[in-house]
Amino acid sequence: MNERDSERVAAWLTREGHVPSADESGADLIIINTCSIRKKAEDKVYSLVGRLEKEKQKRPRLILAVAGCVAEQEGENLLRRFPGLNLVFGTHQVGRVAGLVAKAQAGERISLVGPLPDADRLAGYLPFHRAPGVSTFVTIMEGCDNWCSYCVVPALRGRELCRPPEEISGEIRSLVEAGYREVTLIGQNVNSYRSGNGLSFPGLLKLAAGIPGVSRLRFATSHPKDLSPELIRAFAEIPNLARHIHLPAQSGSNRVLAAMNRRYTREDYLDKVERLRAACPDIAITTDMIIGFPGEDEPDFRQTMDLLEKARFDGSFSFVFSPRPGTRAADLPGPVENADGKRRLKIFQDRQDEITEEINRALVGRVHEVLIEGINPRPCAGKCASLSGRTSGNKIVHLPGSLDLIGKITPVRITEAAIHSLRGTIEDNLVSPEPGPKEAKC
Ligand code: SF4
Repeated sequence: MNERDSERVAAWLTREGHVPSADESGADLIIINTCSIRKKAEDKVYSLVGRLEKEKQKRPRLILAVAGCVAEQEGENLLRRFPGLNLVFGTHQVGRVAGLVAKAQAGERISLVGPLPDADRLAGYLPFHRAPGVSTFVTIMEGCDNWCSYCVVPALRGRELCRPPEEISGEIRSLVEAGYREVTLIGQNVNSYRSGNGLSFPGLLKLAAGIPGVSRLRFATSHPKDLSPELIRAFAEIPNLARHIHLPAQSGSNRVLAAMNRRYTREDYLDKVERLRAACPDIAITTDMIIGFPGEDEPDFRQTMDLLEKARFDGSFSFVFSPRPGTRAADLPGPVENADGKRRLKIFQDRQDEITEEINRALVGRVHEVLIEGINPRPCAGKCASLSGRTSGNKIVHLPGSLDLIGKITPVRITEAAIHSLRGTIEDNLVSPEPGPKEAKC
C-alpha cells in the first residue's frame, strides 16, 4: 500500500513539473513515506528525519516532508520535534501534495492530517503513473473496518471505501497498454470489497482477469473471516489468477485470537486452508504471525506452533508484538517478557524456515510457469542466473536467459531450491511465442 501511495505522490508532483532525482544528494525535496504498524518502523522514521535534518544544515533550500501513517498519527508533534521539517501530511492528503509542497517552498511549515469526506478520499487517484516494470499494484479500496485490537490502520486510514469497478478496470487497461503484465489488486482487506452496485471481490477478480493482456492477477491482503466459498472457487475457475494467497492468521490460540478481535477461531482458519487446498492443490499459502501478544502463555504459543504444523505455510512474516499508541491491545494486561517473545519468535521462525525449505525442495524437477520480471538484482560470478521471475505461487526464481523474455510467462524447470528463492532452466520445447495465461493447474 505504501509503495503505491509513494507512486501516487510522485504522480501528483510530476504533473506539477517536479522531476525525480537520481539520488538523495541531488534532491531539493525529500518526502519520507512512513509506516507505523510496528514501533521499529516508526523509530526508523525518526532516525532518518534526524539524519536528514543534519544534511539540511549544509543544504538550507532542501524541503523535508513526512507523509503516511506516522504523519497521520503524530501531526504537529513532528514539526515540534524536528525544527528542520517543513511539511507533514497524512494518509488522506496525497491528492493535495503539490499545493502543500508549493507552500513549503514559499516558507510555510505545515501539518495537514485528519479524515476527508469519502468523495475527496477517492479523488486522490490519478489515472496512471508508475515506475516502469512488469508487475504493478492497483488500489481497489482504502481503509479498514475491522478494528483488530493491536492495529492502528482503521484509526489512521479511515473506514473502508471501495473504488468503482469501472475506474479500476480502466486503470488496469491503461497499465496493460503501457506494457505491464501482472497486476496486484491491493487494499487492507480486499475480500470485503463491494462496489456501490453490489459487485463482490470475486466478481471484481473475474472482471480484472478478463481484461486482455493481464497475464497474471494477484491480490493482497485478505482477512480470513471474509474468505468466501466464492473466492475459494475463484482459484479453480480463473486461469490467470495466481495460485497464492496471503492469509494472515496472527495466532493459533483461540484465546489470543479473541483478544485480538480477529473474529475467527483456529478451527475456522484451518477449515479455510483445507478448502483452499481442496479447490486448488498447488496453492501457496503465506501468513502473518504476531508472537508474544499480551496474555499469550506457553500453551497459547504451542497452539500457534500446532497451527503452523497443520497449515504448513509456504512462508510467513512474523514479529514480536509491538504495542501501538491508541490501540486497545496497548492497554491489555499480561505483557509478555521481551526475552520470552524473542525466544518464541525464534522457535517459530526456525520451524517456518524448515517447512519453507521442504516445500521448495519438493518443487525441484517440476516445470513452473514463471513470469520473468527482470534482471537478477544480485547476479554472482560463474554459473549464476541473469534473470529473475516469479512462479504463480509467488516463489522467486533465478534463471539464465535472454532479456527478451522479460514480461513473458515462461516454462521453467526448477533445478535448485533454498528458503528464499529457486533456480531453474527454461524448458525450450515448451516456450510459447506469446505471453499470456496458460492452463489452470487446479
Ligand atoms: S484487518 Fe488488517 S488492517 Fe484491518 S484492523 Fe485488522 S490488522 Fe489492521
